[in-house]
Amino acid sequence: MKKPVLRDVLGAISSFFLFFLTVGFIVSCCMMLFISVLADTMAITFTSDDIAAAAKLTFWNVILITILFKLADFIRRKILVDRPTRIITEATEKIMAGDFSVRIKPMQSSGMEGFDQIAAAINQMAEELGGVETLRTDFIANVSHEMKTPLTVMQNYGTLLQSPDLTEEQRIEYAKGVTYTSRRMADMMENILKLNRLENQQIFPQVTEFDLGEQLCECLLQYENIWEKADIEIETEIAENVRVKADAELLSHVWNNLFSNAFKFTPSGGIVSVSLTATESHAIVKVSDTGCGMTREVGAHIFEKFYQGDTSHSVQGNGLGLALVKRVIDIMQGEISVESEAGKGSTFTVIIRGC
Ligand code: ADP
Repeated sequence: MKKPVLRDVLGAISSFFLFFLTVGFIVSCCMMLFISVLADTMAITFTSDDIAAAAKLTFWNVILITILFKLADFIRRKILVDRPTRIITEATEKIMAGDFSVRIKPMQSSGMEGFDQIAAAINQMAEELGGVETLRTDFIANVSHEMKTPLTVMQNYGTLLQSPDLTEEQRIEYAKGVTYTSRRMADMMENILKLNRLENQQIFPQVTEFDLGEQLCECLLQYENIWEKADIEIETEIAENVRVKADAELLSHVWNNLFSNAFKFTPSGGIVSVSLTATESHAIVKVSDTGCGMTREVGAHIFEKFYQGDTSHSVQGNGLGLALVKRVIDIMQGEISVESEAGKGSTFTVIIRGC
């Protein structure tokens, strides 16, 4: 940054003048006090020549002291103020230019701890901005990747549909392919928008009191066709009259995601069980399955956006379901956890407060 020279010179002169007046005032007061006490106690009478000589000497003394003070102040400012200011300014300029890797080292200038506090705040800001930037770029990369696959599939079906000698069966099959893939894309977009609105707190929970057991049964029944087709056994142990105060619509997203995952990851002949118990203050819902389960490593990431641990089912989802579930549970100040063992099955436990 270019420094305006004239302003600096004027600043230096005015600060010198200020020092001069201050020192002049202090020294004159001391001198006058000293002389008057001396004259009184020793009964000395000063001539105007004596006073003129003393005034001249005092004047030069003041000039000298002012120069010394100003010099000391200049060095102090250079070391204690200008250097930290320059370091902080350079760091913030780099952050402004998009370099979030900048960190300011502690300056440890005694008496100037404020600079270290500013530096610590700037370091934290840079770290958080860096985190947000990584999330943003990861998010864009994930969305682009997730969109590319269905778009390619749709393009392929479109090309196939252009072929003139298609049988009626093939035409229907390809058209169904386009519809299915576009529906998946629409679902993904809906999930992204929902997650975005939940994260930006644009969705305010509409809290009502309702029977949680009834809601769980209603959601579960929507999967009847799936469990019958896949020959999956259902076990339920749902306590009666468990009433909760929560946003029913948001909560139904949670159950739908947990149930659809349970059916998706459980092979034919498996068991999916749902239980509801309640204490005075909270309700506990457990959704268990005897499906493929997951390793500890996978379990640690399942609530992250776009994370898919089991890629063999990746076409049936986009890794956003559990991220949404987690966000909803966080908004409701509830808890969600998973216990799972690869090859044996998983149990998701949700705790909802507000019974
Ligand atoms: P998706 O819609 O792609 O399944 P989710 O966010 O719902 O995304 O799930 C993320 C990952 O969590 C899945 O890819 C899978 O690895 C794991 N997962 C979720 N539920 C289960 C389950 N019931 N059994 C085994 N793995 C599961």
